[in-house]
Amino acid sequence: MSGADRGQRHQDRMARKKALVDESIKRADRDQGLLLVLTGNGKGKSSSAFGMLARALGHGMKVAVAQFIKGRSDTGEEAFFRQQPGVTWHVLGEGFTWETQNLARDTETAQRGWAVAKRVLMDESIDLLVLDELTYPIKYGWLEIDAVLADLKARPAMQHVVITGRAAPEALIEAADTVTELGDLKHAFRAGVRAQQGVDL
Ligand code: ATP
Ligand code: MG
Repeated sequence: MSGADRGQRHQDRMARKKALVDESIKRADRDQGLLLVLTGNGKGKSSSAFGMLARALGHGMKVAVAQFIKGRSDTGEEAFFRQQPGVTWHVLGEGFTWETQNLARDTETAQRGWAVAKRVLMDESIDLLVLDELTYPIKYGWLEIDAVLADLKARPAMQHVVITGRAAPEALIEAADTVTELGDLKHAFRAGVRAQQGVDL
């Protein structure tokens, strides 16, 4: 095939592709508050959620974060985002269940945490809310999935919510608009590298 023929074929193929892309863009003509779930064993769930937080702030939107498991308050993202106007940041956890080793206390902590999250979910002024590591309190039975889903459903129509954490329950995936599973192909931790500042915390 001559160079000119190949050029023409490429142009035809791209024209067909453009028609399809244009058509699907035209079809997506609604705005709504989205429920996003970032799950899976791979690294990148929370950092992706914080990427959306930065995007929203760039547009002058008001955002909130509720962290469910972490008891620590020394992460780079918290230090950074707390300095930005328009950010509310709640640390609601006390650490992982194998650290606290107390079911009654974990349940109470999670329920208290959800009460805080629920207030944010009812706040019309919040445009985007990150519920970081919310899948764990559900998975361990500290929070009722039905109650969580009902409160999510009752939120303002244009409020976006991003939920992160491994093993997202089926009902949450069902209720979400956008779900991404991050896969663990390789992680430096298994080769003996501890969590690195700026990359992992
Ligand atoms: P990140 O906060 O880096 O986006 P994540 O939210 O996807 O990670 P979590 O399950 O919340 O992952 O774990 C939090 C911490 O564990 C982070 O320091 C992260 O780098 C690290 N981590 C994430 N995935 C793995 C993995 N597969 N093996 C070991 N450590 C991991
Ligand atoms: Mg995380």
